[in-house]
Amino acid sequence: MSGQSDSQGLLGAQGSAAAPKVTDCTETVLRIFEFLDGEMGPDDCVRIQSHLDECGPCLREYQLDQALKIVVKRSCGSEQAPVELRTTILRRLTMVHLEISE
Ligand SMILES: [Zn+2]
Repeated sequence: MSGQSDSQGLLGAQGSAAAPKVTDCTETVLRIFEFLDGEMGPDDCVRIQSHLDECGPCLREYQLDQALKIVVKRSCGSEQAPVELRTTILRRLTMVHLEISE
């Protein structure tokens, strides 16, 4: 058996020219505040929301940011947020950011 041309390798290389746009963890985490503030377009909102549904770490980050927002809001008003809670949230937030940036 000879003369068989192997063209499968070429076809495979051509297929990966354009990668589909996937919402990754970095983008999700970077845009969580935009998402929380409702400053995001409906398409992006859907993408972030569906990523949060599938990704545990990002959902945790989202919940932390949401909690932080509430704490910050409270500390600006008449009601004083417990310092301990705020410190815990800030520390956790920093940890999550460090994990992702590594
Ligand atoms: Zn994620």
